[in-house]
Parts: sequence; C-alpha cells; structure tokens
Amino acid sequence: MKQQNISLSRREFLNLSGAAAALACLIGCEAVASTPPPTFTPVPEAAVLPTLPKDLTPPQAALFQLMIGNLRYISRTPKHPHQDEQRRRDIAAKQAPIAAILCCSDSRVPPEIIFDQGLGDLFVVRVAGNAAAFSDVIASLEYAVEHLHTPLVLVLGHQKCGAVTAALEEGELEGNLGKLIAALKPAVEFSAQQPGDRLENAIRANIQLSIKKILKYSPLIQNAVQHGETELHGAYYSLESGKVELT
Ligand SMILES: [Zn+2]
Repeated sequence: MKQQNISLSRREFLNLSGAAAALACLIGCEAVASTPPPTFTPVPEAAVLPTLPKDLTPPQAALFQLMIGNLRYISRTPKHPHQDEQRRRDIAAKQAPIAAILCCSDSRVPPEIIFDQGLGDLFVVRVAGNAAAFSDVIASLEYAVEHLHTPLVLVLGHQKCGAVTAALEEGELEGNLGKLIAALKPAVEFSAQQPGDRLENAIRANIQLSIKKILKYSPLIQNAVQHGETELHGAYYSLESGKVELT
C-alpha cells in the first residue's frame, strides 16, 4: 500500500480550504487547521490485512492501526487485542495510548470495539455530539497530548447522531443539555447552506467544528500539531456498515 508523506509546511498548515475555512470563520476562529486527512487509500477489504509499514511517523502509524482495526471489525475478523490479564498488568503502572478520541456518548459508537483495540490503546473522551464545547473536554484531550504524548487526536462523529438531530430541531432545550445542544448550532447553521441531506451535512460539519474549537481553545494542542508531535483528524462512523471514514 502506497504511503505518502503528509507532513506540512507552516504555510500549508495555515492554509485552510473550503468548508473548514468557512466553519472557522463561523466560530470566530483564526485560520488554523488540523492536519488534512492522509491521502493513503483505505485498505480494500481482503482476507489478508497489511501489517504496519515501518516508515510511518507516529501519527501515521496510530491512524493506520485504527483504520486497520476498523477493517478487522467490519470484516468480522476482530483480534480483540490487549484484553487479557497480562496486558492489564503491563499497563497498570503507565499508559501510552496510541490515540485520543473525542466521540459521542452514543451507546452504538464504542471506540474500542469499532477500532478493535484493547486496554491502554485509546484515550477516550465521550460527550453527546462529540462537542468540544466545554473546557473539561478540551482539558482531557490536552492531558493526552501533553502528558501521555498521544500522537493522534481523532474527532469521531457518527451517522444519525441524536445530539445533532436535536440541534437541527426548532426550539431550545433547557438546562445543561440546552447549552450542549446550542453549542452544535453553528454546524447546523453551516449545513443549511449545503445541498443534500441536512442531518448528514450537519454531522460532518460538527466534526469540523469540534476540530476548530480544539485548535482555537487549546494553544497547547495547536502547538503540538504545528510541531508534528500529534495530528488532529476528523472521522465519520456509519452505524449501519460499521465503517469509519476520514473526513
Ligand atoms: Zn451522537
């Protein structure tokens, strides 16, 4: 499988494009971008899955491991790695997850299952609508990047997200839930200008919105991305197929 160098110059890094730029403006963010999705082609469904190439950077390797794990999951050949007693003991003193994942609390989107990972592999932050709306969410991601040196941060949205659906509906919810849903509104407003399915567009816009907020409100993560210490990507999970695609 062909791999491409996805490292970026500072100029490229600062060069936002299309919808991402529009969303950045929508939330009043400066023009900073997450790392663009790698251009490697998703691994075709095959009986024999490729092994981890040796020439990948740590962020690339982490992303590769997640996508291969997802392929194992959807091809009904999961390995259920790192789930035995020995693994539990090995990581008791220290964790070194390969990725931090911000994803929805939805019970149908468990990261360890859909990426076929195990104990100590994923640092997961779950909140309805995978919203980077509150400081504790971003602080948790900062912990992974700064203290665990996690080489990959993934914002994972999903098909038929109830939180985004609620944000699409008229009226406002009360209490803390209302605040959370209100934080998703910019993605909904952005999607109103797009052709196609309104909910699907809003879900995908919301992934980018969370990425922009992470970069805007976390100079620490922004700096780590700029220096290539970690990469920040968006991904979309299909409830029906089980497949994860980078967005
Ligand atoms: Zn959801």
